[in-house]
Amino acid sequence: MNVFRGVMPNNFELPKPIERLGELAYNLWWTWEKDAQSYFRMINGHLWEETYHNPVQFLRSVGRADLNRASQDRYMLDFYKKLMADFDEYMAAQDTWFKDTYPNLTEKNIAYFSTEFGLHETLPIYSGGLGVLSGDHVKEASDLGLPFVGIGFLYTEGYFSQHITEDGWQESHEVHLKFEDLPVMPLLDDEDKPLTISVELPGRTVLARLWEIRVGRVPLYLLDSDVEGNSDTDRKLTARLYSSDLDLRISQELILGVGGVRALRLLGYDPSVWHMNEGHSAFMALERARELVSEGMAFDEAVEQIKSSNVFTTHTPVPAGNEEFPTWLMDKYFSNLWPQLSLDREGFMDLARREQDWGETFSLSVLALRMAEQRNGVSELHGRVAREMWHFLWPERKLDEVPITHITNGVHTGTWLARRYRHLYDEYFGEGWWKHVDDPAVWEKVDEIPDEKLWSVHEHLKRKLTFYMRDRARQQWTDDGVHPVQVVAAGTLLDPYTLTIGFARRFATYKRAGLVLSDLDRLLKILNEPNRPVQIVFAGKAHPADEPGKQLIQEVYRKVKAAENGGRLVFLEDYDMNLGRYLTQGVDVWLNTPRKPNEASGTSGEKAALNGVLNFSILDGWWREGYNGNNGWAIGEDEEHNDPNVQDQADANSLYDILENEIIPLYYEGRSGDNIPREWIAKMKECIRTLAPRFSMTRMIKEYTEELYVPVIEGKGELEAATE
Ligand SMILES: *Cc1c(COP(=O)(O)O)cnc(C)c1O
Repeated sequence: MNVFRGVMPNNFELPKPIERLGELAYNLWWTWEKDAQSYFRMINGHLWEETYHNPVQFLRSVGRADLNRASQDRYMLDFYKKLMADFDEYMAAQDTWFKDTYPNLTEKNIAYFSTEFGLHETLPIYSGGLGVLSGDHVKEASDLGLPFVGIGFLYTEGYFSQHITEDGWQESHEVHLKFEDLPVMPLLDDEDKPLTISVELPGRTVLARLWEIRVGRVPLYLLDSDVEGNSDTDRKLTARLYSSDLDLRISQELILGVGGVRALRLLGYDPSVWHMNEGHSAFMALERARELVSEGMAFDEAVEQIKSSNVFTTHTPVPAGNEEFPTWLMDKYFSNLWPQLSLDREGFMDLARREQDWGETFSLSVLALRMAEQRNGVSELHGRVAREMWHFLWPERKLDEVPITHITNGVHTGTWLARRYRHLYDEYFGEGWWKHVDDPAVWEKVDEIPDEKLWSVHEHLKRKLTFYMRDRARQQWTDDGVHPVQVVAAGTLLDPYTLTIGFARRFATYKRAGLVLSDLDRLLKILNEPNRPVQIVFAGKAHPADEPGKQLIQEVYRKVKAAENGGRLVFLEDYDMNLGRYLTQGVDVWLNTPRKPNEASGTSGEKAALNGVLNFSILDGWWREGYNGNNGWAIGEDEEHNDPNVQDQADANSLYDILENEIIPLYYEGRSGDNIPREWIAKMKECIRTLAPRFSMTRMIKEYTEELYVPVIEGKGELEAATE
């Protein structure tokens, strides 16, 4: 259907027997197929690390000798053949869940818009949880065979890399992406020129070119304004994620929303479902209305029509986190559009007007809520909070009838489950379990795994994390001449046999990274108990414009560095998906301390649970649904205090009490002669069994399909009422 396809630059000069490796490199299937990664590692493990797991750069720089060996060695050749057979089978599969369940809908298309996609560490076009969720969403859409297409940005400067100064201040280093070394393909026209779309911005028309990333069976099209024909300033419009410059933000969002629709049209798509993941892409609805009005339809009728095919997912329970623009800015960017929609200024502003203390604004969340027939939050509690927050849009309805439902976030099993666990589960879960990761019956079999085996995989992953941290610290030492004190703070002393707690996420203040450090004396006493020591690993970035976030990093870092903690606190720089994998697979306990109810869902704890890492968290977001009393620990009560200080104090006390009285004894006491903590392992099994299926991306995508996408395709109309 789409005439244009990404062009794979094929200049790897691979030996004939393994010449299809280039094809493999340009399909992100390898990011979740662990055997593909093992294969690159087998060819040259050192280079695989050095290229930061980037197969395109890897194949560009790998030596002839390595390639010859790979094409001649019997074992490696067999491995290659099996791998390519698996790849071909995946790509050609006719028996996918979607095809089996909705055989008459396979010709439809679901378009998914998001500002960020977290697919792999080598493509830093994401900043945090929202991006990782989008990336996982696309991967699972591929696995389940949804007729799916993604739209986003290819930022020329990836999300920054983080360095912490000796004083604990976050420095952000620019990352310039070299697209020719990444698994992204340019879309070219008949004359081999970049394929572009255009978007009108004040006083000019801006071009954006298109790139394609293949994510298994799903194409992801990414926009990039760095093209000839644009002014120098406009070439930088899509250089970075989330600028705090309002003109830049609104321009980006116009390019995503308006340009995204035009890109799909150019490529020949006529989607039946248009999914706005967060409000940033809401201008998409205006462009679709403009299309219909230009064909002669009345505006109200156009809105009815597009609304019936729009889906909106909100992720932000904090009012300030929802994108709004002052109306003077809207005048600047949209006065051209009003007549094209046959609206006047007031009619236009009415679409998404909000009265704030500081004046009138145009809210993208309001626009998206009004322009979508299906709307959802990302956990049960967040759904409720969203209904309260947006009740004013449906004043005639009762609170629980506000038409915003919820679908709780999940994580993509293939991406986040450690390879060792995958092999262990292969042994016990039976044939084909991999295609049914959302089926609780599959995971019941975790009880059949001998404690020793489960524990030895866990210990292996923990050692792997400590070696990785030591390696990074050593490298920092030699590369930057970092002071040894700092290297210690960065983790040389981490001990693989000590109870280890992980805390890694964006340093937004509501996540309260400092909570566990709030009574430092009490904490240090706990950590330094000679026979049952504890260590805590922190990681996370603050948005470069988020001063309170950066101050929080500094506060944490200074405490981490203080000599008297004896190296039991560690801060690791540059949290990304790679470090995220190491941590969620390699620690014993995953700590999360958001100020309730601000964590819409959270997903890192779901990654941890999949790998038998026990959650120790506030009953917010997904954990409020996942916690059953036996599969981890809950910090605080299932209620909210009005006074944040009171809440912090209560939560901190609860945290220390549980750590002292429950977690540490369970880990260290009652070990039998073989030194295996059987009760701890029982809890790990309970955690894996109860949480892995339910918080899988498979369950999540099936729910999006059944509850939102298919009703939209079949024109079922607005959902009846919110489901609790
Ligand atoms: C999973 C993940 C997140 C989201 O984590 P939360 O703790 O849910 O906020 C953020 N960043 C990275 C790199 C991740 O892998």
